Amino acid sequence: MGTNSARSASSLPTRILIGLGVGAVAGITLNVLYAPALGAEPSSAYVELGWWADQMVKPFGDLFLRLLFMVVVPVVFCSLFLGVAGLGSVQKLGALGSRTLTWFLGTTAIAATLGITLVRLIAPGRNVSPETVARIKEQYGTIAQAKIEQGAEAQGWLQMVVDFVPTNVLGAAADNQRILGLIIFALILGAAATQVPQDRIRILRELLEGLYELCLKVLAWVMAFAPIGVACLIFHATARLGVDVMRLVGWYFVTAMGGLVFYQLVVVTLLARVFAGLSPGRFYRGMRTLLVTAFSTSSSNATMPTTIRTAVDEFGAPKEIAGFVMPLGATMNMNGTALFEGVSVLFLAQVYGIELGWVQQAMVVGFAVVIAIGAAGVPGGSIPLLAIVLTQVGVPPEFLALILGVDRLVDMTRTLPNVSSDLVCSLWLARREARALSGTGARRGR
Ligand code: ASP
Repeated sequence: MGTNSARSASSLPTRILIGLGVGAVAGITLNVLYAPALGAEPSSAYVELGWWADQMVKPFGDLFLRLLFMVVVPVVFCSLFLGVAGLGSVQKLGALGSRTLTWFLGTTAIAATLGITLVRLIAPGRNVSPETVARIKEQYGTIAQAKIEQGAEAQGWLQMVVDFVPTNVLGAAADNQRILGLIIFALILGAAATQVPQDRIRILRELLEGLYELCLKVLAWVMAFAPIGVACLIFHATARLGVDVMRLVGWYFVTAMGGLVFYQLVVVTLLARVFAGLSPGRFYRGMRTLLVTAFSTSSSNATMPTTIRTAVDEFGAPKEIAGFVMPLGATMNMNGTALFEGVSVLFLAQVYGIELGWVQQAMVVGFAVVIAIGAAGVPGGSIPLLAIVLTQVGVPPEFLALILGVDRLVDMTRTLPNVSSDLVCSLWLARREARALSGTGARRGR
């Protein structure tokens, strides 16, 4: 028993959790002690501590994040290609693909609807005074402008869909924001692999299987560094949090965070129970490392190799299914992001003083789903697209400034349902497949 508890005290998930706790406590303490009030001049102690946080702590967090991103492109390509090629036929790909897409669209729409419903019930925008709006805009206006410009580069919706298909696959692979292009290429190439004589591509498959194994080994090494990386990322995020802004837009913050936590703890847990047959205890025990990685990196893409590993190693999902669902899910299935978009658009509309009718609210759900597909799984990946939705419903996109000060924490939190919904989807498909196989076996045995 002594050995067991000693082992669990030093297990990687426990050490990562300790890193998370230490980083958060240190960062929040620093923030509470030294952060200036909104609009006030920062004290010299805060400037100095800020320098330490930026120059001495953040680089280690960034290093961890970059090491995770480093393996994303080969893992996406290998797992999708091998996953689709391993299905053996385009029909099977079609069946798996359509179930996966149904899950993505269904859960994303539920999340966005929940976000909108919460804002209608709580009405967080009604309590924000015009003075508060002016103060926040003064502080965060420039950052908002940069995000709006990024969003403006995106074209119409149809063109956005067309742009998903890359003209140069290496270009798509070179940019974390455009990884959907690489996904499409890997899917098509995998489908083609089911249509050619297998002896012609045997060596290629073995090569990619080898590369995939190597990447997972590298990931295991990177994760050994996670307790320090996570502590640094959390420290920097919390030390720089806009606690003052949090108070000013308090009801928005409570609505968004409350909605995300509710979605994760109630909706996702229920989905895991119903579709994957997992008790809450088993579900959360198995994905501790996954949740902490998602929370600290704020990125579905950076977390994706860990999501695959969790599905396969912790829950026994077949590699082909996890390798197919996770890369797609990391870019296309963002439940938390959709909920956040719903809350943010309605909140900002309330602050601006416009009442969105039912049709416009249905439009917001539709936009939230499209954004969840189009947004990059990187920190703040959905913000530029949020600017476009605001424009579509008649809210000036500069109003984004109001929520940017607290977005880091909301972003970390929305990434949790983003990745855990992918996990449940793959476990559901794995369970279906296992049932189908045992059904075939039973029939054969008869
Ligand atoms: N950070 C989110 C993710 O990677 C994307 C976003 O909502 O900004 O899943």
